[in-house]
Amino acid sequence: MAAQIINGKEIAAQIRSELKERVDRLASEGRRPGLAVVLVGDNPASAVYVRMKKKACQEIGIYSEEHRLPSTISQGELLALVDQLNADPKIHGILVQLPLPKGLDEEEVINRIDPRKDVDGFHPVNVGKLSIGLPAFVPCTPAGVLELVKRTGTTIAGKKVVVLGRSNIVGKPAAMLFLRENATVTICHSRTVNVKDECAQGDILVVAVGQPQLVKGDWVKPGAVVIDVGINRVDGQIVGDVDFSEVKEVAGAITPVPGGVGPMTIAMLMKNTVDVADVK
Ligand code: NDP
Repeated sequence: MAAQIINGKEIAAQIRSELKERVDRLASEGRRPGLAVVLVGDNPASAVYVRMKKKACQEIGIYSEEHRLPSTISQGELLALVDQLNADPKIHGILVQLPLPKGLDEEEVINRIDPRKDVDGFHPVNVGKLSIGLPAFVPCTPAGVLELVKRTGTTIAGKKVVVLGRSNIVGKPAAMLFLRENATVTICHSRTVNVKDECAQGDILVVAVGQPQLVKGDWVKPGAVVIDVGINRVDGQIVGDVDFSEVKEVAGAITPVPGGVGPMTIAMLMKNTVDVADVK
């Protein structure tokens, strides 16, 4: 039987509409959430992401500020902007769009963001809190992955979760999140031996490798929930890290690319921003 297709676009729209209700309430109490997005240089993909984030803010009613800076800006000037945003009461979330142009020190910039406004969840304080099980900002893509799995109605506790990929922005935090949900988690990477057999153990398989259609039908346990984070451009088309046409015949549920994890990333960014403003 073909898998259930997990419609990330629809779920993200539902989350945005739930958030809009919260924002309307907050605004009526004089606490409208605010997000500042900092874009340095002219990376076209970054500019597209920033536009999408601004549009989502407008739809939900979040106040948004865009700071576009030339790639010639100095590290000191960029840090001064972060300081200014840290101190601004209108701003609840700060997002510095990565990657930064060469010559700027990303780590220092991320470390400068007030961890309480770090809606991307990349500050070491939030990374550390997540790993010791304290409430923390969770990076938006893995947060979206977890939300998609939850909304399929799948029980996570006690399940075997295999995460393919160990990046700091997707793989590692995804593994931590599923561990927090009491799953038994395996993390695979480029040095894993028999990666296909490892993947085939997963009741839930999260794939974030950046390799077009790497995961085939025989890598997947029958009935598994498969979440494809990959975004790869092949012959002018966007494809995931999972061979969708093969895997959908084996999995119990699967996300498409596009229309799966992608829309969830921005929805979770909006949620993180609203959460900061909605502290009693
Ligand atoms: P990275 O390149 O940072 O990490 C890739 C990971 O995959 C690494 O851990 C690497 O292992 C592992 N890997 C690579 N090739 C193989 C292989 N053949 N077998 C096993 N493991 C392998 O990528 P990201 O995590 O940043 O992104 C992954 C994908 O997700 C990309 O397609 C990206 O575009 C997409 N993405 C999508 C987002 C969304 O909103 N939907 C957001 C962020 C990313 P090792 O560590 O050993 O090198």
